[in-house]
Amino acid sequence: MKSLLKGGEKNSALGGVLETLRCSPFRRGFALAPRDLRYTRGKGLNTIREHAYTFIRARLGPALPLNDGKQTPMKGHPVFVAQHATATCCRRCLQRWHGIERGRTLTEGEIEFIVDLIVAWILNCLTQGPEQPR
Ligand SMILES: [Zn+2]
Repeated sequence: MKSLLKGGEKNSALGGVLETLRCSPFRRGFALAPRDLRYTRGKGLNTIREHAYTFIRARLGPALPLNDGKQTPMKGHPVFVAQHATATCCRRCLQRWHGIERGRTLTEGEIEFIVDLIVAWILNCLTQGPEQPR
């Protein structure tokens, strides 16, 4: 179970998933807009992580999420953008990319994995994007 991995082991597992996602031109095409980067820096990553938990639990957590496949806007919050980039936008993408089967409630470990992946992707944007503070 990925959520049981600690520290460096967990980071390298997440890095591997992010690496695989880069193989998809569609997923690779997502980036945080300047306003998303500003918002993220203003709130801090801990707050963004809390937002991610709230979104994932409500919009992906149930066995049959409302409007599944269309529940994640393409913009409006950095977590939404990160969800499309990391294929955690809907239950079909979660199944296809991450092997999390549809039709059942997400486990706490799965929610944690998804949130970790989203935050890792956002962190990459903050540290590698062209909008780095001077
Ligand atoms: Zn999707």
